[in-house]
Amino acid sequence: MRIGILGGGQLGRMLALAGYPLGLRFRFLDPAPDAPAGQVGELVVGAYDDPEALRTFVEGVDLVTYEFENVPATAVEWLTGQVPAYPPPRALEIAQDRLSEKRLFEACGIPVPAYAPVGSEDELERALASIGLPALLKTRRLGYDGKGQARIEDRATASAAWRQLGGVPCLLEQLVPFDGEVSVLAARGRDGSTVVYPLVENEHREGILFCSRAPARLDNCRLQEMAEAYARGVLYELDYTGVLAIEFFVVGGELLANEMAPRVHNSGHWTIEGAETSQFEQHLRAILGLPLGEVNPRGYAGIVNLLGSVPPLETLLRVPGAHVHVYGKAPRPRRKLGHVTVLAANAEERERRLARLLEVIEHAGEPLPRA
Ligand code: AMP
Repeated sequence: MRIGILGGGQLGRMLALAGYPLGLRFRFLDPAPDAPAGQVGELVVGAYDDPEALRTFVEGVDLVTYEFENVPATAVEWLTGQVPAYPPPRALEIAQDRLSEKRLFEACGIPVPAYAPVGSEDELERALASIGLPALLKTRRLGYDGKGQARIEDRATASAAWRQLGGVPCLLEQLVPFDGEVSVLAARGRDGSTVVYPLVENEHREGILFCSRAPARLDNCRLQEMAEAYARGVLYELDYTGVLAIEFFVVGGELLANEMAPRVHNSGHWTIEGAETSQFEQHLRAILGLPLGEVNPRGYAGIVNLLGSVPPLETLLRVPGAHVHVYGKAPRPRRKLGHVTVLAANAEERERRLARLLEVIEHAGEPLPRA
């Protein structure tokens, strides 16, 4: 069985690494000749909307999936005419547009931060009047890792924020005074069966995911129940197959949905060592119509992303309970080059191991992103 993956980044690479023990083979499509998945599988280099590249990519492939959601809808449509493709293209389309995403959450009864669509400077003025300050202006499309966002503190800076984002269609969102951020990872099989992993607690720095803890440190067990119900609602609404992640803000004992990813997710990397079934194997099981795997944790996991540089392996591997993943990407400031998971027997030990890991990373010279 050969699986075609749109996108050749670290997520594709880890999908392949999880699929090889199951006897699967992989081909990737990515515009970058040095895409990191190319080090572990066949890579077709080409634009996602290049008909020739798409034909070469799909030739001899049994099934297509995505590790990158900003694939042009036309390419996905064409591919779905050739071979089965999961998750459903509708999930991809919705996740590409923050407005459609918000409307989907609302249709599923999931609370979201106050927001308003903004298509012009006049609309921005009106949106600010209704949402209030401070607020975040976000481009509807192509934003990630804090890119395509501008914070508006006062009316005087609104126009500059609008110009900074290029005057493209945006959403204005209330700046949520959150108690924390969590994400839920869920999977749905082709037969409609679902599993939901324990909630993950996420710390973003400079708009990028920096550190995650799983299971999350929750003093309110209702949050897990709510997240499970919300995730199942979205999976059902989209008639979804595969792994899906939803990120939430925790505010006063409630969850407000921020965004979703119709794919495996950075905050799920802990599952490789920390759960009975990794998110990568789970996604493959789901799209292949195989039985879904157990999601119970094997301990207390913490992950830290390696941003911009990778400290020497010999120092990282000295941290007790550390599992190191290096993606094989060229260093660039703040680029996700790898991650380290520490696994511990209890929450206190996890904190000690995370603290040790952060010391090692800082000591290696790369300044940690600002909290
Ligand atoms: P996003 O690209 O929407 O995932 O945003 C990246 C990060 O920016 C989030 O994980 C939050 O830390 C922060 N952020 C995004 N939207 C909001 C908001 N409405 N209120 C407060 N913080 C936000």
